[in-house]
Amino acid sequence: MLFNVAQLLKEPTGAVRRHELNEDLTQLDPELRFLGPLIGTLQLLRTNSGILVTGNFSTAVQTNCNRCVEPIAQEVRFSLEENFRPLTEVTTGRYLRPEEFEGEEEDLEDAALLIDERHILNIAEVVRQAIWLAMPMYPGCNWIGAGDCPNLLKRLTELDQLEDIGFVNDPRRTAEEEIDPRWAALLKLRDDAGGRES
Ligand SMILES: [Zn+2]
Repeated sequence: MLFNVAQLLKEPTGAVRRHELNEDLTQLDPELRFLGPLIGTLQLLRTNSGILVTGNFSTAVQTNCNRCVEPIAQEVRFSLEENFRPLTEVTTGRYLRPEEFEGEEEDLEDAALLIDERHILNIAEVVRQAIWLAMPMYPGCNWIGAGDCPNLLKRLTELDQLEDIGFVNDPRRTAEEEIDPRWAALLKLRDDAGGRES
């Protein structure tokens, strides 16, 4: 995600470059598992003091449903609008002083927004940050309409069926059902013994 902007920096304010991106993201962030490339159109606009980077992008990340914890493919869409600042003047190679930069103070301090001495503009870090921001806080299986995650409901139903097969000591069961007469006799013996001990 490197762009040589030496030529663009020599052009007047308002000059534009467009790049169709289809970028492999597998090395971008060890904590993100990408299922597809970064797709979108990147626009580079020469401004008074640098280059304005804009564009709309999409990719896909593997994550887990917040409800059923099954792995899911999460589409991630985001926009970029960032002012990049050249570290050096392209014609002379002279290092630019920060006060020569016209723009937001926070852009000035952000190392991710610096165009290096070789006039390489690198969007990797702003893309990485934008993807994290665009990820849903509670990713879920993609179901349509109201209600809960269908996988979770299915899982709970299965669990319920398992319980119906098994647990003799299920408190719900003893409350609801009559005690087997054979057990009733044993329970009576136990109760009597308990009575004697106290
Ligand atoms: Zn789910």
